[in-house]
Amino acid sequence: MGRADFEIHGVGVKAGQKLVVDIPLPGLYTETTVNMPVHVVHGKREGPTLLVSAAVHGDEINGVEIIRRLLLQPQLKKLRGTLLVVPIVNVLGFHIQSRYLPDRRDLNRSFPGREQGSLAARLAHIFLSEVVRRADLGIDLHTAAIHRDNFPQIRADMSLESLAPLAKAFAAPMLIHSAPPDGSLRHSASVEQVPIMVYEAGEALRFDEVAIRVGLRGVVNVMREMGMLSLKRKPPKPSVVLRSTAWVRAPSSGLVRMLVKLGDMVSKEDVLAFVGDAGGSGEKPIVSSSDGVIIGRTNLPLVYEGEAVFHVGRTRQASLLEQHLDAMQDGGQFNLPEIVEEPEIV
Ligand SMILES: [Zn+2]
Repeated sequence: MGRADFEIHGVGVKAGQKLVVDIPLPGLYTETTVNMPVHVVHGKREGPTLLVSAAVHGDEINGVEIIRRLLLQPQLKKLRGTLLVVPIVNVLGFHIQSRYLPDRRDLNRSFPGREQGSLAARLAHIFLSEVVRRADLGIDLHTAAIHRDNFPQIRADMSLESLAPLAKAFAAPMLIHSAPPDGSLRHSASVEQVPIMVYEAGEALRFDEVAIRVGLRGVVNVMREMGMLSLKRKPPKPSVVLRSTAWVRAPSSGLVRMLVKLGDMVSKEDVLAFVGDAGGSGEKPIVSSSDGVIIGRTNLPLVYEGEAVFHVGRTRQASLLEQHLDAMQDGGQFNLPEIVEEPEIV
């Protein structure tokens, strides 16, 4: 007896088969039909079902590239369990290169959604009921918002026993415990007993080669930990654990001159940037409110008073962070022999 078919949206995917199942969404007002393609890799051998999703925010595209490379991995031929992959969840937002849906709602604040609700609520409901519920665990791939950049990090509710070891296994440079916000995919999925971790790396509407490689390696690491792929001999370097994070905000509106970049260690009272007017007067320092590492930053040097310019994470593991930074700089550790070689995107 072979393994049973994997049923999704009324389609049976056979063991050893790779199939794209289209799930219908509300269409465009141009009489154009819209689907959410779900890639199903149903392994020949029994095992768990992992969901990997990207572009819940329609302009966050690093994850789409991570998924493209994941689906090319030759090791998937020996997959144990089932991989459910949705490269573009927010199809309508992706189409207009927007974080939001055309109704200006944030899909990641619209879960669990409703069948008869708003456009965002309908999309959330379809994704949750047709796809998420079919998985045992999920990895949702994000980037920072437009004009902002995030250092590669995993955000997960580390109080969930089924999720914490796998969030560690991803082995992103940084790991942050965070309870899921209301209305988020992460929150609604955990109510449905499908724990989800979020990978945050890079900037919206950009490809970032390091963020992509770290993300691909992380997904493969989690699949190994879940027994879906065979184990690697050398365990990955553990993540730097951040105990808490804080935003550093602009003291006034103006033009910003940055003095620190992502991954830099900073001390309380350090000047991180200056903000001033175009005439060169009235310049004020932007001062760090705590010791820590820069995990997020705006890339647009034009800010309003109160705007979050830096995101600082508190950690005691400065030397481990240094090791991650070195590895990310030479990129060497990401050229794992079992991962398909890709030309580097610059
Ligand atoms: Zn996002």
